[in-house]
Amino acid sequence: MGKIIAVANQKGGVGKTTTSVNLTASLATAKRRVLLIDLDPQGNATMGCGVNKKKLVHSSYEVLTRQSKPGDAILPLKELGFHILPGNADLTAAQVDLLHHDNRERALREALESCRGDYDFIFVDCPPSLNMLTVNAMVAADSVLIPMQCEYYALEGLSDLMDTLENIRRTVNPKLAIEGLLRTMFDPRSRLAKEVSDQLLEHFGDKVLRTVIPRNIRLAEAPSHGLPALMYDKSSRGAVAYLALAGEIMRRNEKAA
Ligand code: ATP
Ligand code: MG
Repeated sequence: MGKIIAVANQKGGVGKTTTSVNLTASLATAKRRVLLIDLDPQGNATMGCGVNKKKLVHSSYEVLTRQSKPGDAILPLKELGFHILPGNADLTAAQVDLLHHDNRERALREALESCRGDYDFIFVDCPPSLNMLTVNAMVAADSVLIPMQCEYYALEGLSDLMDTLENIRRTVNPKLAIEGLLRTMFDPRSRLAKEVSDQLLEHFGDKVLRTVIPRNIRLAEAPSHGLPALMYDKSSRGAVAYLALAGEIMRRNEKAA
């Protein structure tokens, strides 16, 4: 059964999409069967994998609102070695549409039942908000991966996220775990980054992933070519860091299994 991991943080621009795309690509090169779901109306993960978000025939919106089956909307990306359930601005309507559904927070979970067995890992790239889309991802998920920048307000935002997680555990998904906190865009020369990183380790211990993603220009450039960094410049520090992260995620999960 594929493990579903929601990549979430309501703070914008912390590296959710970069992590979703590059971790997916890295696990795919390690021969894992991986599906990436774009659940953000911005459609950045979709574009970052070279899929035109404006020309989707079927999308995650339709799957979420039960207008399409996942099997009809998922696109195999042969050159990248993984599958994507693409998303776009249609997702903004999902919030309203879902209001009319019973079990509206379980829509994604139910929709994925039919395809879960086809994958080892399923990553859900969430929007920068704790809205119904993110809630759907967390209800569907086995765990949450939380990318964060080590800067001044990072810890403050984390407590809202932890409250939401706790709420979801109490109500619909008691098994929801924290996959890990991921330090992104890390600059080892910054004293503040180091201080925040130390605080994180102190508060969250083992929940902080050992792999640290450095700030690396190739990671920022790759999406404009519609490619994960691994396919754009495989020896870049960014690509190498995400390969290491994939290794860490596999070790943690395959040991636990
Ligand atoms: P949003 O909240 O808008 O969905 P996000 O959390 O998904 O944003 P990204 O889109 O992954 O964040 O990253 C924000 C910006 O920072 C992007 O321009 C991305 O290319 C860049 N970026 C992400 N990670 C790195 C990194 N490690 N080094 C350099 N640039 C990065
Ligand atoms: Mg994003």
